[in-house]
Amino acid sequence: MDSIDVKALAKINIGLDVTGIREDGYHEVRMIMQTVNLFDKLTVKKVKDGTVSMSTNLKFLPVDDDNLCIKAAKLLINEFGIKEGVEISLEKHIPVAAGMAGGSTDGAAILFAVNNLFNLGLSKKDLMDRGVKLGADVPYCIMRGTALAEGIGEILSPLPPMIKCPVLIAKPGISVSTKQVYQSLDARFDSVKHPDIDQLISDIKAQDLKALCSHMGNVLEEVTIPMHPIISDIKQNMMDHGAVGSMMSGSGPTVFGFFEDNKTAKAAKEALTESGMVKQLYLTTLFNNR
Ligand code: ATP
Repeated sequence: MDSIDVKALAKINIGLDVTGIREDGYHEVRMIMQTVNLFDKLTVKKVKDGTVSMSTNLKFLPVDDDNLCIKAAKLLINEFGIKEGVEISLEKHIPVAAGMAGGSTDGAAILFAVNNLFNLGLSKKDLMDRGVKLGADVPYCIMRGTALAEGIGEILSPLPPMIKCPVLIAKPGISVSTKQVYQSLDARFDSVKHPDIDQLISDIKAQDLKALCSHMGNVLEEVTIPMHPIISDIKQNMMDHGAVGSMMSGSGPTVFGFFEDNKTAKAAKEALTESGMVKQLYLTTLFNNR
């Protein structure tokens, strides 16, 4: 095999709580992660000359060592002393800097691809152990599905699959700095309202979409929404058009909405398009690996 095609799937957070700040500045989190069927496409080809390079359809993305694709490929190539290199082509669809782990999932997909391309024989667990060196979300992107993430996001416990439902994903044309969001959170950490993550886990186990939606919460909304009220407007628009629940993912600004049926979700998608509030809009489904 000289070339492999892989999909890198995005995630949303059904619940996101920050439970503490460590001495090294990292945040302790409790998050419910869910993979969605919105993905980047990657092709990884072997090259004889030992170089690691990439190209992408998004011209503003780095294509050097700052890209997690390059970092991931080099991590395995160096560890295993592989003499050949790889040429990566990345077709980006996941909104960038949007709270959907776009970079992390590309890195995870490259670890998977390089492992297969060079027959390294690494298990999923082996890949996850290496993935954490690239970023806290990378192990989850390798694991996929519905999971509880704790620690700084790297301690994972699989959960039963989520209730199947259409999901609408909307990103406004604004950028959010994750660093700034966490700094603002730190400044008012004692006064924020924390979501009940254990209750959400019970709702997932009970397969109760309505209960789940009524308990969804993301502690970062409290700091991101005042900076970007459009996030709240998009949530409201989804709710006005039949969403059972709607929330911001990660540090934002992406908003997702859960719907009971496809017809309602499609109508909500049209309404959001007409509103002119969003730049990227996808109607998709939840990914379930079990
Ligand atoms: P998270 O949900 O983990 O906070 P995010 O969605 O906020 O992630 P990314 O889409 O991963 O953020 O992008 C954040 C930054 O990472 C980008 O501005 C970009 O410069 C850099 N980056 C490095 N590699 C990639 C990649 N493969 N795809 C997208 N961005 C990348």
